[in-house]
Amino acid sequence: ALMITDECINCDVCEPECPNGAISQGEYIYVIDPNHCTECVGHFDEPQCQQVCPVSCIPFDPDVIETKDQLYQKYLKISAV
Ligand code: SF4
Ligand code: SF4
Repeated sequence: ALMITDECINCDVCEPECPNGAISQGEYIYVIDPNHCTECVGHFDEPQCQQVCPVSCIPFDPDVIETKDQLYQKYLKISAV
């Protein structure tokens, strides 16, 4: 999963780009729900939020490292709901 750091300027550009609805406005900055972030696997070749963030504050979350297969399984699970 990806995460949003406190460099976030609350511009709201990333939220509508997420195909999984994983991004929302948090208390202070935007946040990513790791249970819904597939790193865009199943939808796009590159993480869409990373592509559009004007301040590049969306790195991979070092605490939530996943393989492509795990991400794809998550995509299938989310899509089935
Ligand atoms: Fe959403 Fe893709 Fe960003 Fe994850 S990487 S939060 S799925 S846009
Ligand atoms: Fe924050 Fe970047 Fe999303 Fe803008 S695009 S709300 S700066 S994480």
